[in-house]
Parts: sequence; C-alpha cells; structure tokens
Amino acid sequence: MFRTIIAANPIDLIEPGIAESLDVLRGTVGADGLAVWVAAPASTYFRPRAAENKVLRFDGGLTYRPDAACFATTRLKPPAAAARSRDILEELFEACAERQMGLSAIISAARTGGLARRHPDAACKNVYGDVSQTSVCLSNPDVRAWLYSLVDDVTRRADLEAVYLHDFRMGCTDAVDVEPAAPADRRQAIRALLEWCFCESCRQRTAAARVDVDEMAVRVRARIETLMDAAAAAGQTAAQIAHEFRLSGLEPSPDTELDGVLAGVARVSRCPVILGPGWGEGASALPRVRAVLTAGRVIPWSAGLAEAGRALADFAAQPGATPATWLGVQATDAVMSDSARLVSLFKTLAESGWAGAFVSHYGQLPLSMLEALRQAIRFARRADTAGL
Ligand SMILES: [Zn+2]
Repeated sequence: MFRTIIAANPIDLIEPGIAESLDVLRGTVGADGLAVWVAAPASTYFRPRAAENKVLRFDGGLTYRPDAACFATTRLKPPAAAARSRDILEELFEACAERQMGLSAIISAARTGGLARRHPDAACKNVYGDVSQTSVCLSNPDVRAWLYSLVDDVTRRADLEAVYLHDFRMGCTDAVDVEPAAPADRRQAIRALLEWCFCESCRQRTAAARVDVDEMAVRVRARIETLMDAAAAAGQTAAQIAHEFRLSGLEPSPDTELDGVLAGVARVSRCPVILGPGWGEGASALPRVRAVLTAGRVIPWSAGLAEAGRALADFAAQPGATPATWLGVQATDAVMSDSARLVSLFKTLAESGWAGAFVSHYGQLPLSMLEALRQAIRFARRADTAGL
C-alpha cells in the first residue's frame, strides 16, 4: 500500500498544539504517518503558517528527553534539548495512535546540533585542520557508541514504525554553506574537497589502507588552489576529481566502513531502520546499501526520478527481500509548487511499486502546498487501489 509520511520538527507541531496539528495532518491532508526529528541538526527557516517566530532559528540537538542511563558509558553526552521538559515522544505516540497514524523518529547520524561544538575531538576536520562546528565523524568509535546509544534510547521509548537515519555520511558539512570566490562552475568541486575529512580517525583508517595521508592532503590543498585560480585551466566536477584521486590510490573515505555503522544501528534498533534522504549518496549506490539494510531507504526527488526508477527496477530484479523505497520530497523542491505535477508524481509512484512518499519540512509548507498534498495523496490512493 502506498503511504505518505510527513516529516516535521516537533516545534512546528507543539506550537499550534499536538492534537490540532495531527488533526490537520491526518484528517485534512490525509497523511498515513508522522516522522519527527528527535536528534536534529541546526537550521533556520521560514514558517508561513506560524503565528510567531516566522523565521525560526533552531539550534537542533535532542528534541526528546533522553534517558541518561543509556549514555552512561558513552564519552559523547547529549547536547541541550529544545523541549526537554516534555516527553514529546510519548505525547506524539499517543496522539498518533488515537488517529491510526504511525509514528517514526528521524535521527541525524552526524549532525545533531551542538554535538560537534561540545565534543571538538570527535568532530570532522577539513584538509586545513579546521574543526567542524556541525559534524561529528562516524569514523570515530566514540561517535558510533553515541549513535548506537541514541538509537537504543529512542526506540525503546515507544512502539515506533521506523527510525529514519539522516546525515549518514562522513565529512565537514560546514562547507555546504561556503560560497568560494571562484568561477561558478568550480564552486561545487571546491565545497566537495573542503568536506573531505582528515580527523584523527579518518587519518588512521586511511593510513591502514596503505594510503599516504600526508601526500593526499598535499594533493587536495593543491587541487583547491588550482580551482580557486581563475586563470588556471577549466575545473572538473566533484565526481571527476574524486575519481582522479581514486585512480592515483589516494581514496578519501572507503564507504565500506559506513556499511558497518549501518549494520550496528540496525542491530540496536527495536524497529526497522530506513536510510533517510540526506545520506549523501546517489541512487546508484543502492545495491551496496542492500547488503546491510533490509528495511528501506528514501531517495530524494532531486536525485532524479528516472535514475531512482532505474535503481528501483535493478533492486527488484535481485534475489532476496526487496527493501521498501520511498521518494523524498521537500518543501523547496520545484514539484511542490506545481499542484498538477505533484498529483501526477504521486500517481506514478503509487502505480510503479514505490512504498510511498516522504515529505519533509512540514513547518515550511504554506497552506497551498498542504492542499496540493491532500489532492496528491487522494489520487495516489485511488491509483493504488485500482492497481490491486
Ligand atoms: Zn573523520
């Protein structure tokens, strides 16, 4: 059955009132499930439907009340929470159950707000040695212990439908906001190189793979310099540069390590683990994911529906259980501003074997988009039933 899950920051549900918000989501819009951020990155966003704080500066962190016992042995400790005084998970779980809605939790694997600042020794470091203010490194054993404890704590609270793992990647994501004064076609490549992590754990891992880390750092810095030089020959894309480094044996971060972390999370979780849309990899990497994750994953709409559709077909053709595939759509995606296109997208998804749609940034949706969503869900449900 095709299902629509709406992802929200708990603040955007609590302010109007949990009951009121869920009545809108379930009753008016027709969503099947709610996914809430329990460990969130910092963000600033515009909330068209909010009564106050229209531009919200959200520090991120844990939005639920953590059980200190779960973090007794971890070196990383929970950062300040936005709504510590209430047990948000319990309140939401009860309100969802009353309305036959599933509740899921969204966890940022590497970018929980406040964590990197509180634990600079566990944070990512770029090629110049700058310590990330936003990302801790999944390569670091202390960070993994923290993540496993977090998943353990969250999933023992309530009978959750799933845990969505967001920001599942290694790298200095501070670079995402950097706008280098270089020719426009090279900025993306520069940002990508600035994301490469050279923290102690990454250096050790890379050295263990018999890669000369110092040589690699020298080459990365030289590459950034060339890209910044407007007079130098035309740049390459981030993917071409990564390929070039791989060819010369200077691989930045073998992703096999992330497979192990994913398997670790799945082991401690009491509910299915779904790889959320913000996992930093294209749809082409999906077969690898399958080996360690059987529950499902969300492919962002921005990755391209055609590519995602091909990956879905490839996946289905392989033996064994096929993980559910969701399409991730966010408030700022162009398709959200075009009601007819959204309806047609949802119909196509429902007819072609997608598990559903994962619509994020609930607080950022204006009323017109909620209305478009309501129609799209209705059409998808009809298409779904017709296909049975
Ligand atoms: Zn690292």
